[in-house]
Amino acid sequence: MKDSILVINCGSSSLKFAILSNAGQDTLVEGIADRLGTEESSITFKFEGEKKSIPLEDGSHKSAVAHIKDWLSDHPAIARGLVGIGHRVVHGGETFSQSVLIDHNVLNGIKECAQFAPLHNPAHIKGIEIAFELFPGLPQVAVFDTAFHQTIAPEQYLYPIPMHFYRQHHFRKYGFHGTSYRYISQRLAQLAKGSDQQGVLVAHLGNGASTCAIHKGLSVDTSMGITPLEGLMMGTRSGSIDPSLLSFISQAEGISADAALDILNKKSGLLGVSEISNDCRTLEEAMVSGDQRAKLALDMFAIRTAKHLASMSTTLESIDHLVFTGGIGENSSYLRQVICDHLKALNITIDSTLNETAPRGETTNIRSASSGTNVWIIPTNEELMIALDTISLISH
Ligand code: ADP
Repeated sequence: MKDSILVINCGSSSLKFAILSNAGQDTLVEGIADRLGTEESSITFKFEGEKKSIPLEDGSHKSAVAHIKDWLSDHPAIARGLVGIGHRVVHGGETFSQSVLIDHNVLNGIKECAQFAPLHNPAHIKGIEIAFELFPGLPQVAVFDTAFHQTIAPEQYLYPIPMHFYRQHHFRKYGFHGTSYRYISQRLAQLAKGSDQQGVLVAHLGNGASTCAIHKGLSVDTSMGITPLEGLMMGTRSGSIDPSLLSFISQAEGISADAALDILNKKSGLLGVSEISNDCRTLEEAMVSGDQRAKLALDMFAIRTAKHLASMSTTLESIDHLVFTGGIGENSSYLRQVICDHLKALNITIDSTLNETAPRGETTNIRSASSGTNVWIIPTNEELMIALDTISLISH
């Protein structure tokens, strides 16, 4: 239990945590504090196969972290091994191209990036400040969702709008899910020797979804933009649309541009089209029992994902590997099949039996014998990356 890392993902209404030991290989305890800021908030610990929930007295982020500290007091062997804390931070702007040890300047840098992630970054700052207060002396590291994409070239990250918006306001594509893509790239290099010298497409498909093109181990393009709204159709987000719709929606509903944007972020995507749910599993069940709206939403999701993958391949010299990851990418054989059915022109095809029988939670290559590209299912592991970055930065 030496060299354990507490990984914290602090959001505005939830705080996920895990303690990883043995170079990130073992998860000792994990859990979530949710409905923070309400009277129903609670914290759940999953330890040695058992779950235990405790109501939070005041529903605050601080009381959630205080409960983690209390739990550690009751488990001194684990507490003694704790050497650092790693925080997931959504937006690092152009300031952070890799993970960093947190000090006063870094905290200010994260605050400055909050203009593009007004819900996420302030919550991360809160989590970091509380952790400094309750765990004084433990070094803390910030790991950014945007960092992996800082290798993308200006031709890809600039928007074709007047340049002064970039010069004065830093309006550009940043991309997200970077910690997941970095993990996938490294894991693939272990599975397929030489893949770190090849062209790789990755589809991270969860409630939030994006694609990434990786050339020689570096991100060269990604589908999300200045915020996580751009790109693929998602659980509740529209993804890329004609921007004029924003003004049409606000006029049609008599609402502000911000309220119309809220519709694109929270009421669109799988939820908006199906009018049933944002959850892929629920929609697949509905589709199987004959619901055409669920099928339409899922098929739109698949086609738009395929289109983004195809457009992203323009940044590669060859498409040697396609990887599916995230809750949907790892588990939905239906969507993997339909996505790949739309990539036949790129000579990407999968073996239907391998796709349908892929064991859950395991790494599998589901390419068909004639496919020009390997097609992998690889479970992502962002917590492991956060723990490894933390260990590496605090031992220097
Ligand atoms: P996020 O991290 O973006 O919140 P996840 O990566 O956890 O999202 O993915 C959540 C999505 O994965 C949900 O739409 C859920 O329905 C889907 N999912 C999980 N398991 C399955 C499954 N067995 N079949 C189909 N979809 C699944």
